[in-house]
Amino acid sequence: MLAGAQAPAREPNELGRVMILEYHKIDTPENRWTRTPENFKRDLARLWERGYRLVALTDYLDGKISLPAGTTPVMLTFDDSSPGQFRYIQRGNDWVIDPECGLGILEAFAREHPGFGRAATFYVLPGANPPNRLFNQPELATRKLQYLASQGYEIGNHSLWHAELGRYPESTVRDQLASAQEWVQRHVPGYRFRTLALPMGSYPKQLGWAVSGEAKGMAYKHDAILMVAGGAAPSPFAKTFDPYHLPRIQAVEHDLDYWLTYFDRNPGERYVSDGDASTITVASGSTGKLGAVRSARVVERR
Ligand SMILES: [Zn+2]
Repeated sequence: MLAGAQAPAREPNELGRVMILEYHKIDTPENRWTRTPENFKRDLARLWERGYRLVALTDYLDGKISLPAGTTPVMLTFDDSSPGQFRYIQRGNDWVIDPECGLGILEAFAREHPGFGRAATFYVLPGANPPNRLFNQPELATRKLQYLASQGYEIGNHSLWHAELGRYPESTVRDQLASAQEWVQRHVPGYRFRTLALPMGSYPKQLGWAVSGEAKGMAYKHDAILMVAGGAAPSPFAKTFDPYHLPRIQAVEHDLDYWLTYFDRNPGERYVSDGDASTITVASGSTGKLGAVRSARVVERR
């Protein structure tokens, strides 16, 4: 870590890459698909200290990143709606969010670190067997999903019961994607998914089946499709940005270490905000790497 209290000034670079972190279980003990509550807290602290700030995945997709100058967006995703991600515990006559579950830890950290942000996407499984069916407290499923939706968290499509989409015919793929939304709508009326995380990273035989369609009278449309691996993701302003093939970084010790170190050693690769949401600041000579830029004004750094 840094020796002094003074963080290094980071040059704005809004064509740099970002991390979309992928968590599975928040539980003990630590293993390949499990991050302990302690380690999750430490992840958040490491991100904070290094100038990363939470941004909603949908804001990243929309290119609406408004962060202070010198900071970097990071997105959190939680797959498979396992119990340790979001648990209520009883206190007196009321249910409160368990401070040791993923959401409880995230919210406490956000409260204690104003400016860190508070955002995450939960890729839930409405039709899986326990313990992965909507965080495994059936009587509280509605309350949980409504809480997430009302508090600005994103609920994402992960299929009805974790179907490996590459193995199925079109009708099954569409049924899995539409039914997941229909089942979530039983809890949050009218809720529409915007993004899909592919179970096991498996694309269906035709990409279009995953992008949009209809089954049993329920239409679905995904603005982005997330993979299970692939490293850091492009800036939403980059020519290489491909919303239907968004890579993620698995938030396990090795991979997280790798990428935090990577950006420490290669600061020019990292997305760094210019502090002005109406401009896109890029390094000198790199405007050719811009994709179709929206309404924002491009500023080339000298
Ligand atoms: Zn999964």
